[in-house]
Amino acid sequence: MSTAYFSHPDCRRHDMGAGHPECPQRLDAIEDWLLASGLDIGLERIEAPPARLEDLELAHSVSYVAELKYALEQLQASGESRAMDPDTFAGPHTWKAALRAAGAAVAATDLVLDGGAENAFCGVRPPGHHATRSETMGFCFFNNVAIAARHALDVRGLKRVAVVDFDVHHGNGTEDILAGDERALMVSIFQHPLYPYSGGVPMGTNMVNVPIPPYTKGGEVREMIEAMWLPALERFKPEMIFVSAGFDAHRDDELGQLGLVEADYAWITQRIMDVARRHAKGRIVSCLEGGYSLPALARSVGVHLQVLSGTAA
Ligand SMILES: [Zn+2]
Repeated sequence: MSTAYFSHPDCRRHDMGAGHPECPQRLDAIEDWLLASGLDIGLERIEAPPARLEDLELAHSVSYVAELKYALEQLQASGESRAMDPDTFAGPHTWKAALRAAGAAVAATDLVLDGGAENAFCGVRPPGHHATRSETMGFCFFNNVAIAARHALDVRGLKRVAVVDFDVHHGNGTEDILAGDERALMVSIFQHPLYPYSGGVPMGTNMVNVPIPPYTKGGEVREMIEAMWLPALERFKPEMIFVSAGFDAHRDDELGQLGLVEADYAWITQRIMDVARRHAKGRIVSCLEGGYSLPALARSVGVHLQVLSGTAA
């Protein structure tokens, strides 16, 4: 078994300003933990290629891609920064980072489908799951996971893929893009109510949305996953699974009020792997979304990778 780890130095250069929680140091914290824990040794490191415009257009409108390209390339040329929404800022390095983040997800999909690794994790930023078909929001520019899922379906010819989203925030962008596309099943948990205040009513029959009240702990979250996600995934029999891996439902994370800990992330990852082994030849591509307590983020990504790579104690 092998696990590939995709990233790129450009992902670190995207900077939304002092004090912003979605900061470059998130990737540093993960890197430090991989080295300190020895996990690094078991991972195959791969530098993410940039996504091509036609990759982005698998999940986004042609006009959105063209307009964002124009706006972000202007910032790259001028060295200036600007607000894209009240929480989301673009600067001179954002265009390249966004291309590498989406490119990582696409390249990881190809690698896993071609048998070069059993599964892959994309340690990238900006994250993607709030980016809708035509809107930048919630720290997200391109929807990395939705682009990769559509690449698996439209370019690589798979018939069924699943998206699993365990970020504390509802993956409204992924739902916007994939709702009604019966080749995809999306299962998610998210604190509700919480930004972006969507998800309470699913947008399609291929959406399994599990809203969770604030202050819920891991044991109850596991019960909801067992009751809601696992039967739907078993029925759907995905040929590949994409994970929106946000770690902001951790009890130490201040952007949410859920109570997950590392053992819960290990358990969730194992359940995803069980489904993937039964139906999808083990094929999983997981992409970093949220997670803003740096120590909790690093430890949680660590256990996620331990389980994915089969090195869990
Ligand atoms: Zn989040």
